[in-house]
Amino acid sequence: MNVLILGSGGREHAFTLKLSESKKINKLFVAPGNAGTNKIAINVDVNPTDFDGIKNLVLNEDIKMVVVGPEAPLVEGVHDFFLSDEQLKNIPVIGPKKDGALLEGSKDFSKQFMQKHNIPTAKYQSFTKDNLQEGYAFLETLKPPFVLKADGLAAGKGVLILNSLEEAKKELKEMVSNQKFGEASSTVVIEEFLKGIELSVFVLTDGIDYKILPSAKDYKRIGEGDKGLNTGGMGAISPVPFADDAFLKKVEDLIVKPTVDGLRKDGIDYRGFIFIGLMNDNGNPSVVEYNVRMGDPETEVVLPRIESDLLDLFEGVANQNLGEKSFSITSKTATTVMLVSGGYPEAYEKNKEINGLENINESIVFHAGTSLKEDKVLTNGGRVMAITSFGENIQEALDKSYASIKKIHFDKMNFRKDIGFDLL
Ligand code: ATP
Repeated sequence: MNVLILGSGGREHAFTLKLSESKKINKLFVAPGNAGTNKIAINVDVNPTDFDGIKNLVLNEDIKMVVVGPEAPLVEGVHDFFLSDEQLKNIPVIGPKKDGALLEGSKDFSKQFMQKHNIPTAKYQSFTKDNLQEGYAFLETLKPPFVLKADGLAAGKGVLILNSLEEAKKELKEMVSNQKFGEASSTVVIEEFLKGIELSVFVLTDGIDYKILPSAKDYKRIGEGDKGLNTGGMGAISPVPFADDAFLKKVEDLIVKPTVDGLRKDGIDYRGFIFIGLMNDNGNPSVVEYNVRMGDPETEVVLPRIESDLLDLFEGVANQNLGEKSFSITSKTATTVMLVSGGYPEAYEKNKEINGLENINESIVFHAGTSLKEDKVLTNGGRVMAITSFGENIQEALDKSYASIKKIHFDKMNFRKDIGFDLL
């Protein structure tokens, strides 16, 4: 069958590579894709939120399944669009409809959902400009640091963690009254600060059953020692050594199962990935956030560890028989280190030629911000490529990723030299 993947990052390259191993796939399309997906699939220049463009592509190429990488098309309703169209309604979309996508699209909705279904998370309240004074009063009941979150999508920038009460009040006003993050911050969730170590757990569900995919830890800041500005992610490790079986059992019983059951009880037919951002406080998990798609760069370490046929699992999601599908994960560790353009996450230059890729044989190169021009691979974004390696342990996998990176060059290339060091 023919399959379409929406998106253009390292995550989508990882999906493409994994699906390309499936014997059931005839043609694989990626819209719009990058220089890496281009080698193993057919890139089509359609934007993932251009639903009419996607429709034409699906009908013209006889595509029988659509896998959605990023959140924007889900929050904007690509799955609902398919269901409401006579010609598309029987083509499965891997990713939730708008109602399920609210778990990521609205932090107020996701907090209400967790409260309703008794899923452990930080205590919270939501405020708008109409009850700003109550927001100040709520802040006064909390201990620092204060956590303020724009309700809507704010490109990963809508969360503020502040030490002073005065500053927290000022920022709350900026967010709700002066639209600091636009419409996204017209409602603000204020929540208790959670202590502990963060990790992510990924779930694939057909709305009834679920498979828990490997756990991962990502590295968000640009600088070593987790300092400096936030980025989309500078590297990731899977599995996470401090997420032992006892902890993961708690995650399944207290979080994963109630989440999948809660969605069903609320009448939300959810078919796709749930990315659960967790805090581990002395072995007790609580949810920091839900995302309704896979993480990037976590996908670049999670998918390579899955030994089962990913298309077979997706068919299980589409046909609601995921529970019958076999599922296995390698015990090996995977690490990925992201190469970024100098200057990122602030201003950076594009169109730098990338050399040395032909010499990489011990790692998988997942392209993110790259493009192809006359056989040359050029940088085309802040995060350029993720270098994934396997090992018997974290050290062995990291040694391979860093050895491969020595062979790759582009002008002003930057990367973190300490991915995974906190776990060694
Ligand atoms: P992302 O870019 O991860 O999608 P986001 O904008 O959706 O982020 P959150 O994940 O909710 O927002 O928060 C961003 C980060 O802020 C978290 O990864 C975590 O490090 C920190 N954080 C959020 N909520 C809390 C909390 N209650 N206590 C402690 N830290 C928190």
